[in-house]
Amino acid sequence: MTRTHAADVAVIGAGPAGLAAALAARQAGAVVTILDEGARPGGQIFRQLPAAFGTIGQPAADAPSHALGHALLHDVEASGVPVLARVTVFEARPGALAYERDGEVGVVRAKAIVLATGAYDRSVPFPGWTLPGVVTAGAAQVMVRGQMLRPGTRAVVAGTGPLLLPTLTALQAAGVRVVAALEAAPRTALLRGVGALLRSRAKRREAWHYARAFLRSGLRLRHGWTVFAAHGADRVAAVTIGRVDRTGRPRRDHEQRLEADLVCVGFGLEPSNELARRLRCTMLRGPDGSWVPQVDARMATSVAGVFAAGEVVGIGGVDTARAEGHLAGLAAAAHAGWTVAPERFAQAEAERVRERAVSRTLLAAFPVLPGLYELAAPDTLVCRCEDVRLREVREAAALFGPELRTLKMATRAGMGPCQGRICASILEGVLASRLGVDPHRHACPAAQVPVKPVAARCLLEALRELG
Ligand SMILES: Cc1cc2nc3c(=O)[nH]c(=O)nc-3n(C[C@H](O)[C@H](O)[C@H](O)COP(=O)(O)OP(=O)(O)OC[C@H]3O[C@@H](n4cnc5c(N)ncnc54)[C@H](O)[C@@H]3O)c2cc1C
Repeated sequence: MTRTHAADVAVIGAGPAGLAAALAARQAGAVVTILDEGARPGGQIFRQLPAAFGTIGQPAADAPSHALGHALLHDVEASGVPVLARVTVFEARPGALAYERDGEVGVVRAKAIVLATGAYDRSVPFPGWTLPGVVTAGAAQVMVRGQMLRPGTRAVVAGTGPLLLPTLTALQAAGVRVVAALEAAPRTALLRGVGALLRSRAKRREAWHYARAFLRSGLRLRHGWTVFAAHGADRVAAVTIGRVDRTGRPRRDHEQRLEADLVCVGFGLEPSNELARRLRCTMLRGPDGSWVPQVDARMATSVAGVFAAGEVVGIGGVDTARAEGHLAGLAAAAHAGWTVAPERFAQAEAERVRERAVSRTLLAAFPVLPGLYELAAPDTLVCRCEDVRLREVREAAALFGPELRTLKMATRAGMGPCQGRICASILEGVLASRLGVDPHRHACPAAQVPVKPVAARCLLEALRELG
């Protein structure tokens, strides 16, 4: 039987944005429910070990932001807001959500919904990127910080942006020997990033925490380098690395081969926007080209009663997520009929504007490097769910044109379980780098139900319940 819940405000996501939203809405008087896929609340950055691990300790050194996370988690727990954990929200309508948990379906009816669904790793394909032992930086962190696993013994870490440092230090703390740390962006990007750090005390402290641990390890970051290919029969055994130009385009004159059983790649993040698309929120291209729901000064999307906060409205980091969550929580509570003093709104709006400005500067320092999409060879998979190779996409584009929708029909790229979460940006990237197709010409893809895979039985039950 379908479980049903009622709330003033339903918050999807228990990361910093969702937790702050829930707390603000609760403090305004609203009845709040939080839903999250994770086993425990915290989201990506405040990831907690599963409760079954007991008190065996934390795997990596606590960063300054983690103290903030502990405080937030404590406050949410003290507020009595229920957290529905291990639930996947797979359908959303204004005023109602359907979720799946252990094969059971639940429906939450709420006057206001806050989307705080975060982000996931941006993937860039290169020969061998689907071999076992090649993982995203986020997945490596989940293994180390969320499960206390050591994902390999000799690692090459490659990518771009500020998340490389936490990944490196988490791996080193777990006992992985990192043999090369490669930042694809030129050294000038780092200098621009420092400019952003100067504007935020919290970000400076966080960066120094990781930089100090990294410098102590004796390893050095190679700027303008990346992974060209991973080699191995049934899992990665070696890696070719090389230099890239300022746009990320591989320069084939500086290749080196290293032995490694782990390759961690982190080329930035993409917003988890599928529920926003499913709710038919107006979507815009963010500064990094990702699709994000348009929000007003109080985090309201274009759909009445739907608010969004944190990475889902643009990659911005923990402080922005928390500030936006707080504002969205107040606005959602007000939408549900609770009184919020104008000065509370004014303060929250000002903080949000300040934090977003800092994170925009940091994001601009490490843009998506279009030349990296030239790493893929003709037989490299570009859609791993449906086994579609670059060659097939080029052939289909030559026959039918380079529209994403047409290519999806022709090749099945984007039709698998990820529903384009991983491959949509890859397709845009390879079409731009190989065929000169302007990525901005593609429309925002529609999201179909279920936005994440669930059993057909659950889908039918939810659709029956929601009408
Ligand atoms: C893999 C990864 C690793 C990161 N590591 C670091 C780091 O080490 N240091 C750092 O400073 N920043 C890190 N970041 C960035 C950091 O996550 C963000 O700055 C911050 O956590 C954003 O907060 P948020 O609340 O917007 O999203 P998140 O913290 O990502 O929280 C979103 C939550 O929404 C839930 N969710 C999403 N979709 C659904 C759904 N359909 N149903 C149910 N629940 C759903 C997810 O389970 C998740 O818990 C990382 C980001 C990622 C993606």
